[in-house]
Amino acid sequence: MNKSCYYLGSVNIVKNGRTYYGKARGKCKDCSKQFVFERQNLNLSQEQKKHIELLLLERISLAGICRVLEISAYHLYRYMDELFSQVPQDLNADVAAQALIRLSCYECESDELWRFVGFKANKQWLWIAQDRQIVALPLGDRGTAGAKGLWQNVPAHYKQRATFFTGDWQAYKGVIPPERHVATAKKKDTNHAERFFCTLRQRCARLVRKALSFSISAQRHLMPIRFFVANYNLSLLL
Ligand SMILES: [Zn+2]
Repeated sequence: MNKSCYYLGSVNIVKNGRTYYGKARGKCKDCSKQFVFERQNLNLSQEQKKHIELLLLERISLAGICRVLEISAYHLYRYMDELFSQVPQDLNADVAAQALIRLSCYECESDELWRFVGFKANKQWLWIAQDRQIVALPLGDRGTAGAKGLWQNVPAHYKQRATFFTGDWQAYKGVIPPERHVATAKKKDTNHAERFFCTLRQRCARLVRKALSFSISAQRHLMPIRFFVANYNLSLLL
Protein backbone atom coordinates (compact mmCIF):
# COMPACT_ATOMS: atom_id res chain seq x y z
CA MET A 1 0.00 0.00 0.00
CA ASN A 2 1.41 3.33 -1.05
CA LYS A 3 0.71 5.82 1.75
CA SER A 4 2.34 8.85 0.23
CA CYS A 5 1.98 10.91 -2.91
CA TYR A 6 4.35 9.47 -5.44
CA TYR A 7 5.02 12.74 -7.17
CA LEU A 8 6.15 14.66 -4.09
CA GLY A 9 6.43 11.95 -1.44
CA SER A 10 4.01 14.00 0.67
CA VAL A 11 1.86 12.20 3.27
CA ASN A 12 -0.71 14.98 3.15
CA ILE A 13 -3.15 12.83 1.14
CA VAL A 14 -6.87 12.00 1.13
CA LYS A 15 -8.98 9.18 -0.31
CA ASN A 16 -10.45 10.18 -3.64
CA GLY A 17 -12.92 7.55 -4.86
CA ARG A 18 -12.09 4.72 -7.21
CA THR A 19 -10.76 4.42 -10.72
CA TYR A 20 -12.75 3.07 -13.66
CA TYR A 21 -11.18 -0.31 -12.87
CA GLY A 22 -12.28 -0.20 -9.23
CA LYS A 23 -8.95 0.60 -7.59
CA ALA A 24 -8.88 2.93 -4.58
CA ARG A 25 -7.58 6.33 -5.56
CA GLY A 26 -5.87 9.02 -3.49
CA LYS A 27 -5.25 12.70 -3.97
CA CYS A 28 -2.32 14.74 -2.72
CA LYS A 29 -3.27 17.99 -0.98
CA ASP A 30 0.14 19.49 -1.66
CA CYS A 31 0.37 19.02 -5.42
CA SER A 32 -3.32 18.20 -6.22
CA LYS A 33 -2.32 15.15 -8.25
CA GLN A 34 -4.27 11.90 -8.13
CA PHE A 35 -2.79 8.44 -7.92
CA VAL A 36 -3.75 4.83 -7.31
CA PHE A 37 -2.92 3.42 -3.88
CA GLU A 38 -2.20 -0.17 -4.82
CA ARG A 39 -0.01 -0.69 -7.79
CA GLN A 40 1.01 -3.62 -9.86
CA ASN A 41 4.70 -3.95 -9.30
CA LEU A 42 5.99 -4.16 -12.79
CA ASN A 43 9.72 -3.71 -13.01
CA LEU A 44 11.23 -1.54 -15.67
CA SER A 45 13.42 -3.40 -18.15
CA GLN A 46 17.08 -2.43 -18.61
CA GLU A 47 16.16 -1.05 -22.01
CA GLN A 48 13.38 1.12 -20.57
CA LYS A 49 15.77 2.41 -17.89
CA LYS A 50 18.35 3.31 -20.53
CA HIS A 51 15.71 5.17 -22.54
CA ILE A 52 14.51 7.06 -19.45
CA GLU A 53 18.10 8.17 -18.72
CA LEU A 54 18.44 9.52 -22.26
CA LEU A 55 14.99 11.12 -22.42
CA LEU A 56 15.53 12.91 -19.08
CA LEU A 57 18.36 14.82 -20.80
CA GLU A 58 16.07 16.17 -23.52
CA ARG A 59 13.34 18.77 -23.56
CA ILE A 60 10.41 16.39 -23.30
CA SER A 61 7.70 16.44 -20.66
CA LEU A 62 7.55 13.67 -18.05
CA ALA A 63 4.07 12.76 -19.34
CA GLY A 64 5.65 12.55 -22.79
CA ILE A 65 8.25 10.06 -21.53
CA CYS A 66 5.43 7.94 -20.04
CA ARG A 67 3.56 7.96 -23.35
CA VAL A 68 6.59 7.15 -25.49
CA LEU A 69 7.79 4.28 -23.29
CA GLU A 70 4.26 3.16 -22.31
CA ILE A 71 5.04 3.23 -18.59
CA SER A 72 3.12 4.73 -15.67
CA ALA A 73 4.02 7.97 -13.91
CA TYR A 74 4.59 5.87 -10.80
CA HIS A 75 7.39 3.87 -12.39
CA LEU A 76 8.93 6.96 -13.97
CA TYR A 77 8.99 8.88 -10.68
CA ARG A 78 10.40 5.93 -8.73
CA TYR A 79 13.21 5.46 -11.23
CA MET A 80 13.90 9.22 -11.39
CA ASP A 81 14.30 9.29 -7.61
CA GLU A 82 16.77 6.40 -7.85
CA LEU A 83 18.76 8.11 -10.62
CA PHE A 84 18.80 11.54 -8.99
CA SER A 85 19.98 10.13 -5.65
CA GLN A 86 23.07 8.80 -7.45
CA VAL A 87 24.14 12.20 -8.80
CA PRO A 88 27.53 12.91 -7.19
CA GLN A 89 27.74 15.87 -4.83
CA ASP A 90 30.33 17.61 -7.01
CA LEU A 91 28.29 17.04 -10.23
CA ASN A 92 31.32 15.21 -11.72
CA ALA A 93 33.17 18.54 -11.76
CA ASP A 94 36.34 16.96 -10.34
CA VAL A 95 36.48 14.17 -12.92
CA ALA A 96 35.99 16.77 -15.63
CA ALA A 97 38.62 19.07 -14.10
CA GLN A 98 41.22 16.29 -14.01
CA ALA A 99 40.69 15.46 -17.65
CA LEU A 100 40.60 19.10 -18.70
CA ILE A 101 43.55 19.99 -16.52
CA ARG A 102 45.22 22.20 -19.08
CA LEU A 103 41.93 23.87 -19.91
CA SER A 104 40.73 24.53 -16.37
CA CYS A 105 42.03 27.99 -15.83
CA TYR A 106 40.46 28.84 -12.49
CA GLU A 107 38.48 31.56 -14.13
CA CYS A 108 34.91 31.12 -13.05
CA GLU A 109 31.90 32.86 -14.45
CA SER A 110 28.79 33.22 -12.34
CA ASP A 111 25.30 34.09 -13.36
CA GLU A 112 21.71 33.52 -12.28
CA LEU A 113 18.66 32.21 -14.13
CA TRP A 114 15.11 32.18 -12.86
CA ARG A 115 12.01 30.09 -13.32
CA PHE A 116 8.96 29.87 -11.10
CA VAL A 117 8.35 26.75 -9.03
CA GLY A 118 4.89 25.55 -7.97
CA PHE A 119 3.10 28.83 -8.70
CA LYS A 120 3.87 31.94 -10.71
CA ALA A 121 4.83 34.23 -7.86
CA ASN A 122 7.38 31.76 -6.48
CA LYS A 123 10.49 32.77 -8.42
CA GLN A 124 13.51 30.55 -7.85
CA TRP A 125 16.93 31.55 -9.05
CA LEU A 126 19.42 29.01 -10.25
CA TRP A 127 22.97 30.19 -9.52
CA ILE A 128 25.95 28.72 -11.31
CA ALA A 129 29.70 28.94 -11.16
CA GLN A 130 31.33 27.65 -14.32
CA ASP A 131 35.00 27.12 -15.12
CA ARG A 132 34.63 24.93 -18.16
CA GLN A 133 32.72 22.41 -16.14
CA ILE A 134 29.96 23.59 -13.81
CA VAL A 135 31.41 23.63 -10.28
CA ALA A 136 28.43 24.91 -8.27
CA LEU A 137 24.68 24.95 -8.86
CA PRO A 138 22.44 25.90 -5.95
CA LEU A 139 18.91 27.28 -5.98
CA GLY A 140 17.91 30.37 -4.03
CA ASP A 141 16.55 33.90 -4.13
CA ARG A 142 18.17 36.62 -6.20
CA GLY A 143 19.56 38.50 -3.23
CA THR A 144 22.51 38.09 -0.90
CA ALA A 145 21.15 34.81 0.52
CA GLY A 146 21.22 33.31 -2.98
CA ALA A 147 24.77 34.57 -3.57
CA LYS A 148 25.87 33.11 -0.23
CA GLY A 149 24.33 29.78 -1.23
CA LEU A 150 26.42 29.88 -4.40
CA TRP A 151 29.63 30.68 -2.53
CA GLN A 152 28.99 27.84 -0.05
CA ASN A 153 28.64 25.42 -2.96
CA VAL A 154 31.88 26.45 -4.64
CA PRO A 155 34.61 23.82 -3.95
CA ALA A 156 37.33 24.99 -1.53
CA HIS A 157 40.17 24.90 -4.09
CA TYR A 158 38.20 27.23 -6.33
CA LYS A 159 37.52 29.62 -3.47
CA GLN A 160 41.27 29.82 -2.85
CA ARG A 161 42.55 30.05 -6.40
CA ALA A 162 39.92 31.13 -8.89
CA THR A 163 38.89 34.54 -10.11
CA PHE A 164 35.12 34.94 -10.34
CA PHE A 165 33.67 37.00 -13.17
CA THR A 166 30.10 38.09 -12.55
CA GLY A 167 27.61 40.58 -13.85
CA ASP A 168 27.43 43.90 -12.06
CA TRP A 169 24.92 42.62 -9.54
CA GLN A 170 25.06 43.87 -5.96
CA ALA A 171 24.27 40.48 -4.34
CA TYR A 172 27.80 39.26 -5.15
CA LYS A 173 29.43 42.12 -3.31
CA GLY A 174 30.40 41.22 0.22
CA VAL A 175 29.97 37.50 -0.56
CA ILE A 176 32.80 36.82 -3.00
CA PRO A 177 36.06 38.23 -1.49
CA PRO A 178 37.06 41.37 -3.45
CA GLU A 179 40.49 39.94 -4.41
CA ARG A 180 38.75 36.96 -6.09
CA HIS A 181 35.98 38.97 -7.72
CA VAL A 182 35.65 40.85 -11.01
CA ALA A 183 32.25 42.46 -11.43
CA THR A 184 31.66 43.74 -14.91
CA ALA A 185 28.84 45.17 -16.98
CA LYS A 186 30.47 43.76 -20.13
CA LYS A 187 28.63 40.73 -21.45
CA LYS A 188 31.79 39.21 -22.86
CA ASP A 189 33.12 38.34 -19.42
CA THR A 190 30.19 36.12 -18.58
CA ASN A 191 29.25 34.85 -22.02
CA HIS A 192 30.15 31.21 -21.31
CA ALA A 193 27.77 31.15 -18.37
CA GLU A 194 25.07 32.85 -20.40
CA ARG A 195 25.61 30.43 -23.27
CA PHE A 196 25.28 27.56 -20.83
CA PHE A 197 21.93 28.93 -19.71
CA CYS A 198 20.80 28.78 -23.35
CA THR A 199 21.77 25.10 -23.34
CA LEU A 200 19.83 24.56 -20.13
CA ARG A 201 16.72 26.27 -21.47
CA GLN A 202 17.00 24.29 -24.68
CA ARG A 203 17.39 20.93 -22.96
CA CYS A 204 15.34 21.14 -19.74
CA ALA A 205 11.62 21.60 -20.35
CA ARG A 206 11.12 22.96 -16.84
CA LEU A 207 13.41 25.92 -17.61
CA VAL A 208 11.75 26.97 -20.86
CA ARG A 209 10.39 30.49 -20.61
CA LYS A 210 6.67 31.13 -21.11
CA ALA A 211 6.00 27.40 -21.42
CA LEU A 212 3.54 25.11 -19.72
CA SER A 213 6.20 23.00 -18.00
CA PHE A 214 7.28 23.89 -14.50
CA SER A 215 8.35 22.03 -11.37
CA ILE A 216 5.97 21.45 -8.48
CA SER A 217 8.57 21.81 -5.73
CA ALA A 218 12.06 23.21 -5.30
CA GLN A 219 13.39 19.67 -4.79
CA ARG A 220 11.71 18.45 -7.99
CA HIS A 221 13.15 21.52 -9.74
CA LEU A 222 16.77 21.20 -8.71
CA MET A 223 17.28 17.41 -8.84
CA PRO A 224 16.61 16.97 -12.59
CA ILE A 225 18.80 19.99 -13.37
CA ARG A 226 21.61 18.54 -11.24
CA PHE A 227 21.18 15.26 -13.13
CA PHE A 228 21.47 17.13 -16.42
CA VAL A 229 24.53 19.11 -15.31
CA ALA A 230 26.34 16.03 -13.94
CA ASN A 231 25.88 14.48 -17.38
CA TYR A 232 26.93 17.72 -19.05
CA ASN A 233 30.17 17.81 -17.05
CA LEU A 234 30.93 14.23 -18.12
CA SER A 235 30.13 15.07 -21.73
CA LEU A 236 33.04 17.57 -21.70
CA LEU A 237 35.40 14.57 -21.55
CA LEU A 238 34.26 13.14 -24.87
ZN1 LIG B 1 1.80 15.32 -4.24
